[in-house]
Amino acid sequence: MISMHVQTRINDYLDRTLPPDERKAVEQHLTTCSTCTKEVDSIRTIIVKLHCLPKTLQPPPDLLTGIEAKLVATLLPRQ
Ligand SMILES: [Zn+2]
Repeated sequence: MISMHVQTRINDYLDRTLPPDERKAVEQHLTTCSTCTKEVDSIRTIIVKLHCLPKTLQPPPDLLTGIEAKLVATLLPRQ
């Protein structure tokens, strides 16, 4: 079997949604192709960074209170 580049299947491969035989084919291709291996590595890096994001994007604890206060001030009729 001639192995083809697996770029189109890398996402499914990393999501583990590929059927086992295709997964095997991708893994086999990765052992011989540095282009696709680099692609997998860069996507993996992005995924890892995405998983780290929520920790750095924690809103300040008083954010909701501030929004509530603004909402109340906007919604309540001014006298
Ligand atoms: Zn390749």
